[in-house]
Amino acid sequence: MDKDLKIKAIIFFIVFIVSVTTFLAMPKINLNGDSIVNLEYGHKYKEKGAYVTSFFKKQDAKIKIDNKINYDKLGSYEVKYSANYLKRKLNATRKVNVVDTEKPKIELKGEKTAIVCPNQKYKEEGYSAIDNYNKDLTDKVKVKEEENKIIYEVSDSSKNTTKEERSIKYEDKTAPIITLNGKQDMTLYLNQTYTEPGASALDNCEGDISSNIKVEGNVNTSILGTYKVTYSVKDSYNNETKIDRNVKVVPRPNNRDKTIYLTFDDGPSAGITPGILKILKEENVKATFFVVGASSNLDYLIKEAYNDGHTIGLHTYTHNYKTVYSSVNGYFDDLTKIQNRVYNITGNKSKIIRFPGGSSNTVSRNYYRGIMGILTNEVQNRGYQYFDWNVDSNDAGSARTSLDVYNNVTRNLNSKSNIVLMHDFEGNTKTLNALRDIIRYGKENGYNFDSIKLDTYPAHHGVNN
Ligand code: ZN
Repeated sequence: MDKDLKIKAIIFFIVFIVSVTTFLAMPKINLNGDSIVNLEYGHKYKEKGAYVTSFFKKQDAKIKIDNKINYDKLGSYEVKYSANYLKRKLNATRKVNVVDTEKPKIELKGEKTAIVCPNQKYKEEGYSAIDNYNKDLTDKVKVKEEENKIIYEVSDSSKNTTKEERSIKYEDKTAPIITLNGKQDMTLYLNQTYTEPGASALDNCEGDISSNIKVEGNVNTSILGTYKVTYSVKDSYNNETKIDRNVKVVPRPNNRDKTIYLTFDDGPSAGITPGILKILKEENVKATFFVVGASSNLDYLIKEAYNDGHTIGLHTYTHNYKTVYSSVNGYFDDLTKIQNRVYNITGNKSKIIRFPGGSSNTVSRNYYRGIMGILTNEVQNRGYQYFDWNVDSNDAGSARTSLDVYNNVTRNLNSKSNIVLMHDFEGNTKTLNALRDIIRYGKENGYNFDSIKLDTYPAHHGVNN
């Protein structure tokens, strides 16, 4: 039995060897390179060729290669090799897998580290995903928000996955922006009213914070100069913005075309003032009376002038140089006296004044050196305005006749504002008699007549004391 088994094994072995040898010795097509090739999408397959063997020897036989690869589509393709050898048809196949192992690419719009207001959520700035095979994968991107991070993830159809991250920094280091209403550099005339134009503030995180704006600084339009109004605002994270407005207070320019401001000083008087009021009324002209503290019997003239629409200015109560120019307090005591007197008659607290002798007078030097420099500033500090003149009728000086008065006025008119100095003190008939002709001359030559208001061009003289 042992022997039989041995023989059987030997026979089996021999048959096996012969079979294998016969099989290997049969003519066949051999492939150069691997029989299964993974070809990355987008690459070209490189044919490595094949050859025929028979009895372990390479044979000279022509091989036909049939390549059915579709490079545009992932998948498994065959390259078929065929040959005719000794009337036998030989075949072989190489498998080519077109594969995609390349990951998609995610591109983030905006910064990779986004700065976000602490009181806000991150607002997506956008992204795109492109894959070499699937092309646009933007719609497939999954966006996840984690602590201080946004994660973008996308996979292509071959399960190649890409991740991108955007860091989020919650902070506010940007100061608000203040926008001034109106101009940053403003110019106002003396005694014009400054109305705070306001401002608005916009913060990057908190929006409109205009109500937090602090406004500091005062504009005193009764004093010439440049004033600074400061606007400041802070957001909740202590970012502060400050901006200044410069307000320049300048003297009113003489830019009113062809206007005559008739002014009568030192009245009222019983002999002259009624006649002047009559002519003004008949000619429908408004004027200005710089009154002094005359007898209370004449109060009715001040009342009448006021009721007729003329301006009542203050020329001091006493018109006494020594009284008004010996001290600043003396001046203001006297001024207050006439102001109260006029107030009691008219109900109006006049702030319109004329210095006895004008602001350029040198008489005051006899009493107090430099007092006009002080008073001209101080009256404006206290909200008054003083008016000098730029046309002098000389009716308190060299003019002897009404023709002199007429000529002195009409020959010196300019084409803008004319503040004409005249007087209605007792006995000044030359002015009374010249008045209607002066008015007629003005009307015929295109002048307007007006009374002085607080903001009228003041025709200030140079101060000489
Ligand atoms: Zn006077």
